[in-house]
Amino acid sequence: MILATSSLVARDLAAVWHPFTQHGQWPADEPLVIDRGSGVYLYDAESRRYLDGVSSLWVTVHGHGEPAINAAILAQLDRLDHSTFLGLTHEPGIRVAEELLRVAPAGLSRVFFAGDGSSAAEAAIKMAYQAATQRGDDRPLYVHVAEGYHGDTLGAVSLGGVELFHATYRPLLIETRMVSSPGVLAAGQPRAARAAEVLAEMRALLAQEGERVCAVVLEPMVQAAGGMLTHDASFLVGVRALCDEFGAAMLVDEVATGIGATGAWFAVEHAGVVPDLMVVGKRLTGGVLPLSAVLAREAVYEAFLGSPDSGRTFFHGHTYTANPLSCAAALANLALMHERGTVARAATVGDRLGAALASVEKYDGVAEIRRVGTMTGIEVRSVGARTGFEVCRAARRRGVLVRPLGDVVVLMPPLGIADDELDELTSVVDASIREVVQ
Ligand code: PMP
Repeated sequence: MILATSSLVARDLAAVWHPFTQHGQWPADEPLVIDRGSGVYLYDAESRRYLDGVSSLWVTVHGHGEPAINAAILAQLDRLDHSTFLGLTHEPGIRVAEELLRVAPAGLSRVFFAGDGSSAAEAAIKMAYQAATQRGDDRPLYVHVAEGYHGDTLGAVSLGGVELFHATYRPLLIETRMVSSPGVLAAGQPRAARAAEVLAEMRALLAQEGERVCAVVLEPMVQAAGGMLTHDASFLVGVRALCDEFGAAMLVDEVATGIGATGAWFAVEHAGVVPDLMVVGKRLTGGVLPLSAVLAREAVYEAFLGSPDSGRTFFHGHTYTANPLSCAAALANLALMHERGTVARAATVGDRLGAALASVEKYDGVAEIRRVGTMTGIEVRSVGARTGFEVCRAARRRGVLVRPLGDVVVLMPPLGIADDELDELTSVVDASIREVVQ
Protein backbone atom coordinates (compact mmCIF):
# COMPACT_ATOMS: atom_id res chain seq x y z
CA MET A 1 0.00 0.00 0.00
CA ILE A 2 2.73 2.44 0.98
CA LEU A 3 4.43 1.62 -2.30
CA ALA A 4 1.16 2.39 -4.12
CA THR A 5 1.02 5.79 -2.46
CA SER A 6 4.59 6.75 -3.30
CA SER A 7 4.16 5.62 -6.87
CA LEU A 8 0.92 7.61 -7.23
CA VAL A 9 2.63 10.66 -5.78
CA ALA A 10 5.55 10.25 -8.18
CA ARG A 11 3.16 9.97 -11.13
CA ASP A 12 1.22 12.99 -9.90
CA LEU A 13 4.37 15.04 -9.58
CA ALA A 14 5.37 14.02 -13.11
CA ALA A 15 2.05 14.80 -14.81
CA VAL A 16 -0.31 17.02 -12.81
CA TRP A 17 -0.56 20.78 -12.18
CA HIS A 18 -2.78 21.49 -9.16
CA PRO A 19 -4.96 24.56 -8.57
CA PHE A 20 -3.92 27.15 -5.96
CA THR A 21 -0.77 25.08 -5.37
CA GLN A 22 2.86 26.22 -5.45
CA HIS A 23 4.57 23.28 -7.09
CA GLY A 24 7.97 24.51 -5.93
CA GLN A 25 6.82 23.60 -2.42
CA TRP A 26 4.24 20.87 -2.89
CA PRO A 27 6.50 17.80 -3.18
CA ALA A 28 8.07 18.67 0.19
CA ASP A 29 4.59 19.00 1.75
CA GLU A 30 3.98 15.26 1.35
CA PRO A 31 0.95 15.15 -0.97
CA LEU A 32 -1.93 13.14 0.41
CA VAL A 33 -3.61 10.66 -1.94
CA ILE A 34 -7.33 10.38 -1.18
CA ASP A 35 -8.79 7.03 -2.09
CA ARG A 36 -12.36 6.91 -0.80
CA GLY A 37 -14.95 8.73 1.26
CA SER A 38 -17.72 7.69 3.60
CA GLY A 39 -19.87 10.03 5.69
CA VAL A 40 -17.75 12.88 7.05
CA TYR A 41 -14.54 10.88 6.57
CA LEU A 42 -12.04 10.61 3.74
CA TYR A 43 -9.54 7.76 3.58
CA ASP A 44 -6.08 7.91 2.05
CA ALA A 45 -4.51 5.26 -0.12
CA GLU A 46 -3.16 3.59 3.03
CA SER A 47 -6.64 3.51 4.61
CA ARG A 48 -5.83 6.24 7.14
CA ARG A 49 -9.01 8.08 8.11
CA TYR A 50 -9.42 11.86 8.07
CA LEU A 51 -12.42 13.90 9.14
CA ASP A 52 -13.31 16.22 6.23
CA GLY A 53 -13.30 19.46 8.23
CA VAL A 54 -13.78 21.74 5.22
CA SER A 55 -16.42 19.57 3.53
CA SER A 56 -14.15 19.09 0.49
CA LEU A 57 -13.83 22.82 -0.10
CA TRP A 58 -17.26 23.77 1.26
CA VAL A 59 -19.49 21.42 -0.70
CA THR A 60 -20.34 18.20 1.18
CA VAL A 61 -23.76 18.44 2.79
CA HIS A 62 -24.82 15.07 4.23
CA GLY A 63 -21.54 13.22 3.89
CA HIS A 64 -19.57 11.36 1.25
CA GLY A 65 -21.29 8.41 -0.44
CA GLU A 66 -24.81 9.45 0.59
CA PRO A 67 -26.89 6.48 -0.69
CA ALA A 68 -29.95 8.52 -1.78
CA ILE A 69 -27.82 10.87 -3.91
CA ASN A 70 -25.85 7.98 -5.41
CA ALA A 71 -29.09 6.15 -6.27
CA ALA A 72 -30.59 9.26 -7.88
CA ILE A 73 -27.52 9.71 -10.09
CA LEU A 74 -27.55 6.06 -11.15
CA ALA A 75 -31.29 6.17 -11.96
CA GLN A 76 -30.76 9.33 -14.02
CA LEU A 77 -27.81 7.74 -15.80
CA ASP A 78 -30.06 4.93 -17.01
CA ARG A 79 -32.58 7.41 -18.38
CA LEU A 80 -30.59 10.34 -19.83
CA ASP A 81 -26.89 11.03 -19.32
CA HIS A 82 -26.70 14.40 -21.00
CA SER A 83 -28.56 16.60 -23.41
CA THR A 84 -27.85 20.22 -24.12
CA PHE A 85 -29.91 22.91 -22.40
CA LEU A 86 -29.35 25.30 -25.32
CA GLY A 87 -32.70 25.29 -27.08
CA LEU A 88 -33.82 22.04 -25.42
CA THR A 89 -35.03 21.27 -21.93
CA HIS A 90 -35.37 18.32 -19.57
CA GLU A 91 -37.35 17.47 -16.45
CA PRO A 92 -34.43 17.29 -13.98
CA GLY A 93 -33.41 20.85 -14.96
CA ILE A 94 -36.97 22.14 -14.72
CA ARG A 95 -37.40 20.55 -11.29
CA VAL A 96 -34.13 21.95 -9.90
CA ALA A 97 -35.20 25.42 -11.03
CA GLU A 98 -38.57 24.97 -9.30
CA GLU A 99 -36.95 23.65 -6.13
CA LEU A 100 -34.43 26.50 -6.00
CA LEU A 101 -37.18 29.08 -6.37
CA ARG A 102 -39.11 27.34 -3.59
CA VAL A 103 -36.30 27.95 -1.08
CA ALA A 104 -34.95 31.24 -2.47
CA PRO A 105 -36.06 34.64 -1.16
CA ALA A 106 -39.46 35.61 -2.60
CA GLY A 107 -39.00 37.89 -5.60
CA LEU A 108 -36.38 35.78 -7.38
CA SER A 109 -38.25 34.05 -10.16
CA ARG A 110 -35.85 32.82 -12.88
CA VAL A 111 -33.03 30.29 -12.81
CA PHE A 112 -30.11 30.30 -15.26
CA PHE A 113 -27.81 27.29 -14.89
CA ALA A 114 -24.03 27.14 -15.12
CA GLY A 115 -21.44 24.65 -13.88
CA ASP A 116 -19.04 26.04 -11.29
CA GLY A 117 -19.34 29.03 -9.01
CA SER A 118 -17.08 31.11 -11.24
CA SER A 119 -19.10 30.39 -14.37
CA ALA A 120 -22.34 31.38 -12.63
CA ALA A 121 -20.73 34.54 -11.24
CA GLU A 122 -19.53 35.36 -14.74
CA ALA A 123 -23.05 34.93 -16.14
CA ALA A 124 -24.55 37.16 -13.44
CA ILE A 125 -21.95 39.87 -14.06
CA LYS A 126 -22.78 39.93 -17.77
CA MET A 127 -26.54 39.81 -17.08
CA ALA A 128 -26.38 42.93 -14.90
CA TYR A 129 -24.64 44.94 -17.61
CA GLN A 130 -26.76 43.66 -20.48
CA ALA A 131 -30.02 44.21 -18.60
CA ALA A 132 -29.06 47.83 -17.93
CA THR A 133 -27.98 48.36 -21.53
CA GLN A 134 -31.19 46.89 -22.87
CA ARG A 135 -33.19 49.23 -20.64
CA GLY A 136 -31.39 52.08 -22.42
CA ASP A 137 -28.86 52.88 -19.67
CA ASP A 138 -25.13 53.36 -20.11
CA ARG A 139 -23.83 51.53 -17.04
CA PRO A 140 -20.48 49.88 -17.76
CA LEU A 141 -19.19 50.10 -14.16
CA TYR A 142 -19.43 47.76 -11.17
CA VAL A 143 -18.98 48.45 -7.48
CA HIS A 144 -17.42 45.67 -5.45
CA VAL A 145 -15.84 45.06 -2.08
CA ALA A 146 -12.23 44.67 -0.97
CA GLU A 147 -11.39 41.12 0.14
CA GLY A 148 -14.23 39.77 -2.01
CA TYR A 149 -13.88 36.59 -4.05
CA HIS A 150 -16.14 35.38 -6.84
CA GLY A 151 -14.02 32.86 -8.73
CA ASP A 152 -11.07 32.75 -11.06
CA THR A 153 -12.45 33.64 -14.49
CA LEU A 154 -11.58 37.18 -15.55
CA GLY A 155 -14.97 38.78 -14.90
CA ALA A 156 -15.06 37.24 -11.45
CA VAL A 157 -11.46 38.28 -10.81
CA SER A 158 -12.35 41.84 -11.85
CA LEU A 159 -14.86 41.93 -9.01
CA GLY A 160 -12.57 40.22 -6.54
CA GLY A 161 -10.50 42.02 -3.96
CA VAL A 162 -7.99 39.52 -2.60
CA GLU A 163 -4.62 41.03 -3.52
CA LEU A 164 -2.71 37.76 -3.39
CA PHE A 165 -5.01 36.09 -5.91
CA HIS A 166 -6.04 39.01 -8.08
CA ALA A 167 -3.29 41.65 -8.34
CA THR A 168 -1.38 39.83 -11.11
CA TYR A 169 -4.29 40.10 -13.52
CA ARG A 170 -5.14 43.77 -12.96
CA PRO A 171 -4.09 44.95 -16.46
CA LEU A 172 -6.58 42.49 -17.97
CA LEU A 173 -9.65 43.39 -15.94
CA ILE A 174 -12.92 45.27 -16.52
CA GLU A 175 -13.39 48.66 -14.92
CA THR A 176 -14.73 48.66 -11.38
CA ARG A 177 -14.84 50.78 -8.23
CA MET A 178 -13.91 49.03 -5.01
CA VAL A 179 -15.07 49.97 -1.52
CA SER A 180 -13.38 48.85 1.69
CA SER A 181 -14.31 45.58 3.33
CA PRO A 182 -16.99 45.76 6.03
CA GLY A 183 -15.24 42.77 7.63
CA VAL A 184 -11.88 44.48 8.17
CA LEU A 185 -12.21 46.38 11.43
CA ALA A 186 -10.15 48.88 13.36
CA ALA A 187 -9.11 47.51 16.77
CA GLY A 188 -12.20 47.18 18.95
CA GLN A 189 -14.54 48.61 16.30
CA PRO A 190 -18.08 47.19 16.40
CA ARG A 191 -19.14 45.50 13.16
CA ALA A 192 -22.27 47.67 12.86
CA ALA A 193 -20.13 50.83 13.01
CA ARG A 194 -17.82 49.45 10.33
CA ALA A 195 -20.83 48.59 8.15
CA ALA A 196 -22.07 52.18 8.43
CA GLU A 197 -18.60 53.49 7.53
CA VAL A 198 -18.34 51.38 4.36
CA LEU A 199 -21.92 52.24 3.40
CA ALA A 200 -20.99 55.92 3.62
CA GLU A 201 -18.01 55.22 1.37
CA MET A 202 -20.28 53.42 -1.10
CA ARG A 203 -22.80 56.23 -1.02
CA ALA A 204 -20.11 58.82 -1.79
CA LEU A 205 -18.92 56.73 -4.70
CA LEU A 206 -22.43 56.21 -6.08
CA ALA A 207 -23.23 59.90 -5.64
CA GLN A 208 -20.40 60.59 -8.09
CA GLU A 209 -20.72 57.73 -10.53
CA GLY A 210 -23.93 55.90 -9.64
CA GLU A 211 -25.56 56.61 -12.99
CA ARG A 212 -22.86 54.54 -14.67
CA VAL A 213 -22.98 51.58 -12.23
CA CYS A 214 -24.94 48.49 -13.33
CA ALA A 215 -24.39 46.40 -10.18
CA VAL A 216 -23.01 46.28 -6.68
CA VAL A 217 -21.41 42.86 -6.24
CA LEU A 218 -20.77 41.27 -2.87
CA GLU A 219 -20.63 38.15 -0.73
CA PRO A 220 -23.38 38.37 1.91
CA MET A 221 -22.52 38.01 5.63
CA VAL A 222 -19.17 36.24 5.10
CA GLN A 223 -16.32 37.09 2.73
CA ALA A 224 -15.18 33.52 2.67
CA ALA A 225 -12.00 33.21 0.59
CA GLY A 226 -10.89 36.63 1.88
CA GLY A 227 -10.41 34.96 5.28
CA MET A 228 -13.90 34.28 6.66
CA LEU A 229 -14.41 38.00 7.22
CA THR A 230 -17.86 38.53 8.69
CA HIS A 231 -19.92 41.70 8.61
CA ASP A 232 -23.07 43.04 10.22
CA ALA A 233 -26.38 42.29 8.50
CA SER A 234 -27.06 46.05 8.39
CA PHE A 235 -24.46 46.22 5.62
CA LEU A 236 -26.72 44.21 3.32
CA VAL A 237 -29.75 46.29 4.24
CA GLY A 238 -27.76 49.42 3.42
CA VAL A 239 -26.48 48.07 0.11
CA ARG A 240 -30.04 47.13 -0.89
CA ALA A 241 -31.20 50.68 -0.16
CA LEU A 242 -28.29 52.23 -2.10
CA CYS A 243 -28.92 49.96 -5.08
CA ASP A 244 -32.57 51.04 -5.12
CA GLU A 245 -31.62 54.70 -4.83
CA PHE A 246 -29.05 54.64 -7.60
CA GLY A 247 -30.72 52.14 -9.94
CA ALA A 248 -28.00 49.49 -9.70
CA ALA A 249 -28.64 45.75 -9.39
CA MET A 250 -27.72 44.10 -6.09
CA LEU A 251 -25.75 41.02 -7.13
CA VAL A 252 -25.00 38.67 -4.26
CA ASP A 253 -22.66 35.73 -4.51
CA GLU A 254 -24.02 32.93 -2.31
CA VAL A 255 -21.68 30.30 -3.76
CA ALA A 256 -19.96 29.80 -0.38
CA THR A 257 -22.76 30.92 1.95
CA GLY A 258 -25.83 29.53 0.18
CA ILE A 259 -27.65 26.21 0.60
CA GLY A 260 -27.51 26.13 4.36
CA ALA A 261 -23.95 26.97 5.43
CA THR A 262 -24.89 29.99 7.55
CA GLY A 263 -27.82 28.24 9.22
CA ALA A 264 -30.26 29.73 6.70
CA TRP A 265 -30.97 28.60 3.17
CA PHE A 266 -29.29 31.81 1.97
CA ALA A 267 -27.20 34.34 3.90
CA VAL A 268 -29.30 37.30 2.69
CA GLU A 269 -32.08 35.97 4.92
CA HIS A 270 -30.07 37.16 7.95
CA ALA A 271 -30.69 40.71 6.72
CA GLY A 272 -34.14 40.13 5.22
CA VAL A 273 -33.11 41.54 1.86
CA VAL A 274 -33.89 40.23 -1.62
CA PRO A 275 -31.17 40.77 -4.23
CA ASP A 276 -31.75 41.27 -7.95
CA LEU A 277 -29.29 38.55 -8.90
CA MET A 278 -28.09 35.70 -6.69
CA VAL A 279 -25.36 33.20 -7.53
CA VAL A 280 -25.43 29.70 -6.04
CA GLY A 281 -23.14 26.69 -6.50
CA LYS A 282 -20.99 24.51 -4.26
CA ARG A 283 -23.49 22.60 -2.01
CA LEU A 284 -26.29 22.47 -4.58
CA THR A 285 -25.63 18.83 -5.51
CA GLY A 286 -24.73 17.85 -1.95
CA GLY A 287 -21.07 18.09 -2.93
CA VAL A 288 -21.10 15.37 -5.55
CA LEU A 289 -21.18 16.95 -9.01
CA PRO A 290 -20.71 20.49 -10.33
CA LEU A 291 -23.85 22.57 -10.75
CA SER A 292 -24.38 26.27 -10.20
CA ALA A 293 -27.03 28.81 -11.07
CA VAL A 294 -27.96 32.47 -11.21
CA LEU A 295 -31.34 33.35 -9.72
CA ALA A 296 -32.82 36.55 -11.13
CA ARG A 297 -35.75 38.81 -10.46
CA GLU A 298 -38.40 38.96 -13.15
CA ALA A 299 -37.43 42.55 -14.05
CA VAL A 300 -33.89 41.43 -14.96
CA TYR A 301 -35.24 38.56 -17.05
CA GLU A 302 -37.74 40.80 -18.82
CA ALA A 303 -34.98 43.12 -19.99
CA PHE A 304 -33.81 40.25 -22.24
CA LEU A 305 -37.13 39.61 -23.99
CA GLY A 306 -37.57 40.56 -27.64
CA SER A 307 -37.71 39.12 -31.11
CA PRO A 308 -34.91 36.76 -32.29
CA ASP A 309 -33.32 39.61 -34.24
CA SER A 310 -33.60 42.18 -31.41
CA GLY A 311 -30.09 41.30 -30.15
CA ARG A 312 -31.51 41.02 -26.63
CA THR A 313 -30.79 37.29 -26.21
CA PHE A 314 -28.38 36.33 -23.44
CA PHE A 315 -25.69 34.87 -25.68
CA HIS A 316 -24.03 32.93 -22.92
CA GLY A 317 -24.04 29.29 -21.84
CA HIS A 318 -21.84 26.28 -21.34
CA THR A 319 -21.82 22.88 -23.00
CA TYR A 320 -22.63 20.95 -19.82
CA THR A 321 -25.04 23.51 -18.38
CA ALA A 322 -27.79 21.81 -16.33
CA ASN A 323 -26.26 18.39 -16.86
CA PRO A 324 -29.02 15.91 -15.95
CA LEU A 325 -26.80 13.86 -13.63
CA SER A 326 -25.89 17.00 -11.69
CA CYS A 327 -29.56 17.97 -11.61
CA ALA A 328 -30.54 14.53 -10.28
CA ALA A 329 -27.93 14.88 -7.53
CA ALA A 330 -29.23 18.37 -6.69
CA LEU A 331 -32.84 17.13 -6.48
CA ALA A 332 -31.86 14.29 -4.17
CA ASN A 333 -29.78 16.64 -2.04
CA LEU A 334 -32.52 19.24 -1.70
CA ALA A 335 -35.11 16.55 -0.89
CA LEU A 336 -32.84 15.15 1.84
CA MET A 337 -32.25 18.64 3.20
CA HIS A 338 -36.01 19.16 3.59
CA GLU A 339 -36.54 15.67 5.03
CA ARG A 340 -33.72 15.96 7.56
CA GLY A 341 -34.15 19.62 8.44
CA THR A 342 -30.53 20.17 7.42
CA VAL A 343 -30.66 23.96 7.45
CA ALA A 344 -31.89 24.07 11.04
CA ARG A 345 -29.33 21.41 11.90
CA ALA A 346 -26.59 23.59 10.37
CA ALA A 347 -27.58 26.39 12.75
CA THR A 348 -27.25 23.95 15.68
CA VAL A 349 -23.90 22.71 14.37
CA GLY A 350 -22.78 26.33 14.22
CA ASP A 351 -23.81 26.97 17.83
CA ARG A 352 -21.98 23.85 18.98
CA LEU A 353 -18.90 24.93 17.03
CA GLY A 354 -19.05 28.35 18.67
CA ALA A 355 -19.35 26.85 22.16
CA ALA A 356 -16.49 24.42 21.60
CA LEU A 357 -14.21 27.15 20.25
CA ALA A 358 -14.93 29.69 23.00
CA SER A 359 -11.94 28.46 25.01
CA VAL A 360 -9.72 28.38 21.89
CA GLU A 361 -10.39 32.08 21.27
CA LYS A 362 -8.78 32.87 24.64
CA TYR A 363 -5.40 31.45 23.62
CA ASP A 364 -2.68 34.08 23.19
CA GLY A 365 -1.89 32.58 19.80
CA VAL A 366 -5.41 33.16 18.49
CA ALA A 367 -6.21 36.67 17.27
CA GLU A 368 -9.91 36.18 16.57
CA ILE A 369 -12.55 33.60 15.70
CA ARG A 370 -15.17 34.65 13.15
CA ARG A 371 -18.23 32.56 12.47
CA VAL A 372 -21.67 32.71 10.88
CA GLY A 373 -23.48 29.37 11.23
CA THR A 374 -21.04 26.64 10.25
CA MET A 375 -18.65 28.98 8.38
CA THR A 376 -15.75 29.48 10.73
CA GLY A 377 -12.35 31.16 10.51
CA ILE A 378 -9.81 30.95 13.32
CA GLU A 379 -7.17 33.63 12.83
CA VAL A 380 -3.93 32.57 14.47
CA ARG A 381 -1.02 34.88 15.24
CA SER A 382 1.93 34.26 12.99
CA VAL A 383 4.82 32.37 14.58
CA GLY A 384 6.73 31.74 11.35
CA ALA A 385 6.38 31.61 7.62
CA ARG A 386 3.27 29.43 7.31
CA THR A 387 1.54 29.35 10.69
CA GLY A 388 -1.95 28.56 9.36
CA PHE A 389 -0.51 25.79 7.23
CA GLU A 390 1.39 24.35 10.21
CA VAL A 391 -1.79 24.22 12.29
CA CYS A 392 -3.54 22.38 9.46
CA ARG A 393 -0.60 20.01 9.13
CA ALA A 394 -0.75 19.27 12.87
CA ALA A 395 -4.47 18.53 12.48
CA ARG A 396 -3.75 16.21 9.57
CA ARG A 397 -1.36 14.21 11.76
CA ARG A 398 -4.29 13.82 14.16
CA GLY A 399 -6.71 12.67 11.44
CA VAL A 400 -8.51 15.89 10.55
CA LEU A 401 -8.33 17.76 7.24
CA VAL A 402 -8.70 21.53 7.43
CA ARG A 403 -7.32 24.16 5.05
CA PRO A 404 -5.84 27.54 5.81
CA LEU A 405 -6.45 30.86 4.10
CA GLY A 406 -3.14 32.47 5.06
CA ASP A 407 -3.15 32.45 8.86
CA VAL A 408 -6.88 31.81 9.05
CA VAL A 409 -7.70 28.18 9.76
CA VAL A 410 -11.03 27.45 8.11
CA LEU A 411 -13.55 25.04 9.56
CA MET A 412 -16.62 24.29 7.48
CA PRO A 413 -17.86 20.82 8.33
CA PRO A 414 -20.47 18.93 6.32
CA LEU A 415 -23.83 20.35 7.44
CA GLY A 416 -25.10 16.92 8.50
CA ILE A 417 -22.13 16.19 10.80
CA ALA A 418 -23.03 14.36 14.04
CA ASP A 419 -22.24 15.80 17.48
CA ASP A 420 -19.46 13.32 18.29
CA GLU A 421 -17.83 13.94 14.89
CA LEU A 422 -18.00 17.68 15.44
CA ASP A 423 -16.42 17.25 18.86
CA GLU A 424 -13.60 15.27 17.23
CA LEU A 425 -13.07 18.14 14.77
CA THR A 426 -12.97 20.87 17.42
CA SER A 427 -10.81 18.96 19.89
CA VAL A 428 -8.25 18.14 17.20
CA VAL A 429 -8.18 21.75 16.00
CA ASP A 430 -7.81 22.91 19.62
CA ALA A 431 -4.86 20.55 20.19
CA SER A 432 -3.26 21.51 16.86
CA ILE A 433 -3.46 25.22 17.63
CA ARG A 434 -1.94 24.62 21.06
CA GLU A 435 0.88 22.63 19.44
CA VAL A 436 1.79 25.32 16.92
CA VAL A 437 1.03 28.75 18.38
CA GLN A 438 0.82 28.41 22.17
N1 PMP B 1 -17.82 32.69 -5.23
C1 PMP B 1 -17.50 32.43 -3.97
C2 PMP B 1 -18.07 33.27 -2.87
C3 PMP B 1 -16.64 31.36 -3.68
O1 PMP B 1 -16.30 31.11 -2.41
C4 PMP B 1 -16.15 30.56 -4.74
C5 PMP B 1 -15.23 29.39 -4.53
N2 PMP B 1 -14.62 29.24 -3.34
C6 PMP B 1 -16.52 30.91 -6.05
C7 PMP B 1 -17.36 31.98 -6.26
C8 PMP B 1 -16.00 30.15 -7.22
O2 PMP B 1 -16.59 28.90 -7.31
P1 PMP B 1 -15.92 27.74 -8.17
O3 PMP B 1 -14.62 27.42 -7.47
O4 PMP B 1 -16.90 26.62 -8.12
O5 PMP B 1 -15.69 28.28 -9.53
